[in-house]
Amino acid sequence: MPHTRLSKNSPNRNTRIAPVFIPMLGCKHQCVFCNQHVVTGLHEKSRIADIASQLEIGMSSVTKDDPCHEIAFYGGSFTCLSTEVQQEILSLARPYIDGKLAFGIRISTRPDYISKDILSMLKEFNVTTIELGIQSTDDDVLYASGRGHTAADIFSAASLIKESGFSLGLQMMTGLPEDTFDKSVKTALDMISLKPDLVRIYPTLVLKGSPLEGLLDKGRYVPLTIEEAVERVSVLKMLFENNDIPVIRTGLQANEELDTGSGYREGPYHPAFGELVESRIYLKWFLYILDHKIPKAVRSISFDVHPADLSKAIGNKKTNIERLHRYKGGIKASISARYDVPRSYLAAEWEDGSLWMDRKGFVRTYLSQPGWVQSN
Ligand code: SF4
Repeated sequence: MPHTRLSKNSPNRNTRIAPVFIPMLGCKHQCVFCNQHVVTGLHEKSRIADIASQLEIGMSSVTKDDPCHEIAFYGGSFTCLSTEVQQEILSLARPYIDGKLAFGIRISTRPDYISKDILSMLKEFNVTTIELGIQSTDDDVLYASGRGHTAADIFSAASLIKESGFSLGLQMMTGLPEDTFDKSVKTALDMISLKPDLVRIYPTLVLKGSPLEGLLDKGRYVPLTIEEAVERVSVLKMLFENNDIPVIRTGLQANEELDTGSGYREGPYHPAFGELVESRIYLKWFLYILDHKIPKAVRSISFDVHPADLSKAIGNKKTNIERLHRYKGGIKASISARYDVPRSYLAAEWEDGSLWMDRKGFVRTYLSQPGWVQSN
């Protein structure tokens, strides 16, 4: 499931992407969760001329002094297109790459449309990153989701992409038909074994016009709640983080149809889903410190984070503060910002003690606790 729109003002220039959307041009499949038109916010099939125009607009602010990392052709399944059309689209990027305005091209596709021949062609046409929408490594989930490929296809495609020298992106979903939290965790662990360079995690929404909407109407599918989705994705994100694999997106990119609710029927959509996930990780971190790092008699504690992390630490509508106040019958807790606390660090101070803890250490310890999957 697509996509990203990395800001042109991204603080990390190396990740600057010029996205071009080519919805449904390449896909002959119909996964139960998919309605490309809603996801991309476009209603008509883009033609090559439209793609060229999107590219021109996307690259208009790019200069040799400030080039973009990759031009990204997202949407549909790129390698399902005929070879001629793939080459025609990829050729649109060539002048920008030759002119040193972009370093390479990123595409997204399905695992069963990857072969040595396809990869050779992509390399010749300057593709540098391939994102595979794998969704799950559980064959029952893949079948129930109408994916049309197996887990074995995923392992073989991902290995071939890595061996051929491309950067590998993997996209997974949680909350698909037949999926469970344990199966999502297994999918994440399988993905980690494939050593991807980047990952995206999407909770499943019931998009209007998707086959999942029919299953919902017949009572054969129940979507995750926001609470369940945030809980699952926060743990999945920590798993990747613990293996130094960047999670570049959690939750679908907001667009008008999703924001107004006109694009989906039910499911865990929130325009700031990624922030909710980050806040949940902070909550786990606070509770871990209260449970394991301070004396049981402590009734008052203050947590400090870097100012840039404060809103995530406090949580949407101050949910984390409220949750801390309810901790074991009530504790006086505050969350504040302090410039001397580095990003991804937490400082805690109570009546007669204090500690500093970095996020990496917390994530490692949290995931080494027995039963951490079940406890969520
Ligand atoms: S393969 Fe991708 S584009 Fe095609 S139907 Fe499935 S999710 Fe949609």
